[in-house]
Amino acid sequence: MTRSSGNPTDRAADPPAGRAGSARPRRVSAGETVLGRKRRARRMARVLEQTHPDAHCELRHDGPLQLAVATILSAQCTDKRVNEVTPELFARYPTAADYARADRAELEQLIKPTGFFRNKTDSLIRLGQALVERHDGRVPGRLAELTALPGIGRKTANVILGNAFGVPGITVDTHFQRLVRRWAWTAETDPVKIEFAVADLIEKRDWTMLSHRVIFHGRRVCHARTPACGACTLAPLCPAYGTGPTEAAAAARLLKGPRAAELAAAAGVDPGLVPAAAAADAR
Ligand code: SF4
Repeated sequence: MTRSSGNPTDRAADPPAGRAGSARPRRVSAGETVLGRKRRARRMARVLEQTHPDAHCELRHDGPLQLAVATILSAQCTDKRVNEVTPELFARYPTAADYARADRAELEQLIKPTGFFRNKTDSLIRLGQALVERHDGRVPGRLAELTALPGIGRKTANVILGNAFGVPGITVDTHFQRLVRRWAWTAETDPVKIEFAVADLIEKRDWTMLSHRVIFHGRRVCHARTPACGACTLAPLCPAYGTGPTEAAAAARLLKGPRAAELAAAAGVDPGLVPAAAAADAR
């Protein structure tokens, strides 16, 4: 494949999905214009769409109440651990009224593996009570009503809106914050300001899936300490290329998740360089 010109504003040069292992990408210009940044962000979003076709909400749920509960439990906890706890929890507490009148000790015991279980129990009981008192036991589908509920911040509200109501929402979790700053989409540090900055770059209809894809990329490729730059499809468009190893074999060893070999191949790296252990869960 012919390499892109490296000009981040040159749409015609858009790589289908990076070739990090075959050539050293050019860094994004320090003088990038607002329009240039928007075009680059949208190109990166398209590459992410190709790179992570399996991106989805990893918290298992059926309906907005289960998603609200799972999202509250996911604070300071992996989605995998939450998914281990929720089947029994959801069977025992199928409605908001069940949480409202829950036996605190029993609920604490059920959710204990997710950590901070006393605070989370308090949030779940108060959430159940508020839903019964204000919304007939149903989870509302509007941001203002959601964020007025106990235990539901803006991030959780956007997760619920995007995944349970089909209303586009940007989920600014730690992965999302780290990656969009690394990509120079924004220099903001406040999650709400980051959300608004990204909302200005990306079309609204793409917000929910973009959130999942960015989080997948953060879990599987662009790790906090040592990102897999040499095996990353975004390398030609990323100003932080080189933060992690750029050599293919070293980078391939850093890929994580069940599609690690496919991620390597998409970046032009020999999938045989990916260790079998990479398939272990990516957080
Ligand atoms: S920092 Fe490295 S791994 Fe992360 S997106 Fe940029 S090139 Fe990819």
